[in-house]
Amino acid sequence: MSIDSASGGEEFPTAVDVVILGAGINGAALARELVLNGCSVVVVDDDDIAAGTTRWSTRLVHGGLRYLEYGELGLVRESLAERNRLLQLAPHLVRPLGFVVPVSGWFGGLRAAAARILGCESLARRWAGKRGRGGITVACGLWLYDLLSTGALWPRRCLVPTTAAGMPAVDADRFPLAGVYDDAQMRFPERFTVELLVDARTIAAGRSLPFEVRSRHTAHLEADGRLRVAPLAAPGGVSSAAGVLHLTPRAIVNATGAWVDRTLEALLPVRLGADGAPLIGGTKGSHLLVDHAALRAGLGVHGVYAEAEDGRPVFVLPFGDRLVLVGTTDIPFHGDPAAARTDGEEIDYLLAAVRRLFPGAALSRGAVVQHYCGVRPLPARRADGRSPAGITRRHLLIRHPQAPLPLWSIVGGKLTTCRSLAEGAAAEILAVLGRPVTATSRSRPLPGACSAREAEELVGRLSARAVAAGLPGPVAEGLARSVVGLFGAQAERALEGGAGASAADAFALLAGSRLPRGIVRYCCDEEWGETLADLVERRLLLVFDPDLTVTTLRAIAAELVTEGRLGAESVDGEIAALVALMADRYGKRLVD
Ligand SMILES: Cc1cc2nc3c(=O)[nH]c(=O)nc-3n(C[C@H](O)[C@H](O)[C@H](O)COP(=O)(O)OP(=O)(O)OC[C@H]3O[C@@H](n4cnc5c(N)ncnc54)[C@H](O)[C@@H]3O)c2cc1C
Repeated sequence: MSIDSASGGEEFPTAVDVVILGAGINGAALARELVLNGCSVVVVDDDDIAAGTTRWSTRLVHGGLRYLEYGELGLVRESLAERNRLLQLAPHLVRPLGFVVPVSGWFGGLRAAAARILGCESLARRWAGKRGRGGITVACGLWLYDLLSTGALWPRRCLVPTTAAGMPAVDADRFPLAGVYDDAQMRFPERFTVELLVDARTIAAGRSLPFEVRSRHTAHLEADGRLRVAPLAAPGGVSSAAGVLHLTPRAIVNATGAWVDRTLEALLPVRLGADGAPLIGGTKGSHLLVDHAALRAGLGVHGVYAEAEDGRPVFVLPFGDRLVLVGTTDIPFHGDPAAARTDGEEIDYLLAAVRRLFPGAALSRGAVVQHYCGVRPLPARRADGRSPAGITRRHLLIRHPQAPLPLWSIVGGKLTTCRSLAEGAAAEILAVLGRPVTATSRSRPLPGACSAREAEELVGRLSARAVAAGLPGPVAEGLARSVVGLFGAQAERALEGGAGASAADAFALLAGSRLPRGIVRYCCDEEWGETLADLVERRLLLVFDPDLTVTTLRAIAAELVTEGRLGAESVDGEIAALVALMADRYGKRLVD
């Protein structure tokens, strides 16, 4: 046994089957798959769960209509199958979303699409034309999309006039026709990732398997072959509860996404990429969150998938009842992924794309309440000759044969395919460990899974309890909806703050929010939340609340102090740091 127990925490066995570096959606899905197959697992992240690209995505669970043009039929088929599966396994977080593809006429785009399918990207760009893809091209694409999607539970695609009832209010003069189809939205991949790890922990506990998640830790392979997992200095005064682990893993998986090359460099003294070349050739993509009533009303219940002036794909998506999410750009990026920021040119570009679709909304920069930017962990070696949009979104599992123990890196991937990636990677890892595949996650729901009907019943039940506890009706319903929206079937537990919480906390609201105080304890005790930023950005998702104020940050910080997670003397500094981070990363200004 070897743990420098700074914390007095429980000892963790030195021998562990697999250490996964990176607690993004892929690392978390893989951890769950491996535990399902009887492996002990330690997950190490140098930040928080889902602090990387997972939260900087467009948040769609989709087949990837446009990948058809690049001949990626296998990827589209796999993505559609996973989309259909995730709708069943996590219906509280993955919801169907109808899409509309506005087109300016019947013809156009056919020659370009054919050239693209044949791999002639430069010809495709030359032939793309200003009018974009026509109705026939879109109809062919949607027909193929339907064909590849077995098991979808919704009506098939169609082509309709843009003026038909219920359609988004796009410029019908410019776009008289629209393709209509369905995909899905995962509004909070942060919560999906946390739930994957919660489920992995539950499975491990049921089988007495060691399982550990270490956030804000770094891993380094020592000369004697042991892996040293050490805490980084914790922000906020009270240090992480965990000490140093000295592990002897049987295998390591580098699931650090856009950081894969940097992680390899830090983990081992020698560069392991084949002939020293980097594995990742990332591109950055930015999104805007727009608070504009006319645009939101004009979208209705649909997302719009269109082309910007330069032919690049752009999504205009409902984001809750009030906001609109617009994305994205696709620009080669070579720096530290953590340093990627949305710039003014990207904001103008995305706004221009929306104005082209919805000229009536008269959208201005003032409506942009925040933005965010992430780096796609795309494979470097496939980038040759293709525009950034054309680089494959397929994932690769790369084994590093020169490493002193079995070591793999995951390159690429999508939110949508996290589960199938995990299933494939687990099979390869288990084979090397000499173990059979005994289970898969194909039909295992996430802990919060509940249907729309069950969610409504839960909202009704929790509202009634909140009213009985003295909250006015609309406040009670707001609280119930917020908690069910985040935690699904786990809402009742979350509301009560996990085990042993007082009933009074369950319905006492965090100042300035619709969430109860006890939820902070739940996120800390049950979901590895440690800091104010963990809570605001990745557990409660308040970062996307356009009405978020410093008052609420203060209320959460006070709960963290009560829980012993934050020193009272550090509260002001922690709040100031989060306010500054929001301005820097999201362009978001908080008021008191
Ligand atoms: C702009 C954009 C839009 C996208 N839109 C979609 C979409 O709509 N649908 C879709 O399916 N996919 C989408 N994707 C792709 C998808 O988001 C990513 O492929 C996916 O999130 C990658 O997850 P990951 O777990 O591999 O990486 P990440 O989420 O980046 O996780 C990596 C983790 O590793 C940690 N880490 C970094 N260095 C170290 C280290 N040295 N040691 C330990 N931990 C470390 C990080 O903190 C991070 O938590 C989009 C991506 C981008 C950028």
